[in-house]
Amino acid sequence: MSEEQVLPFLQLSPSSRAKCRKCKKIIEKNDLRVGFPYSFRLPSGEVTQSYRWYHIDCLDRKQLAQLKQGFTKQDAVVTHPKYQQLMKQLEKDKQLQKNLDIFKQFLLDFAKNKNFEFSEEEVLKMGKMQGFTEKQMKTWLKTLYAEGDIYRAKDGIYGLTFGEY
Ligand SMILES: [Zn+2]
Repeated sequence: MSEEQVLPFLQLSPSSRAKCRKCKKIIEKNDLRVGFPYSFRLPSGEVTQSYRWYHIDCLDRKQLAQLKQGFTKQDAVVTHPKYQQLMKQLEKDKQLQKNLDIFKQFLLDFAKNKNFEFSEEEVLKMGKMQGFTEKQMKTWLKTLYAEGDIYRAKDGIYGLTFGEY
């Protein structure tokens, strides 16, 4: 088997045997599932490839981002209700990512004269003037924190881990 990049694969589960790698529960037969490829070396030295399977509802943001880069699928999946749901989610996520990138740029511009640190209160105030809502900004801050783009420097103060130092 070649070592060229293999895309994630969407299919209807052919059996009720595989467990989801995230929730550890069985993926029922005919449920929509996604496989993320990984390769491993056989005792013979040959490199081969297999999939780690997940429920559609168990994918995290990173995996959704990976799916957005492209995937292959079984023809039959397009009639599965969860497939349409997934396509909508990917589209929504694309929009969210775009807005998040704009907010990150705003944070960078805001914090670069302050040693790349900022208080949440200040950002929420300045962001509102840029047209972001407080709810959006709080969600984005949480996401950036979860993804390691910002850290808590001290109480109510965040620091950036991206940008020039
Ligand atoms: Zn699951």
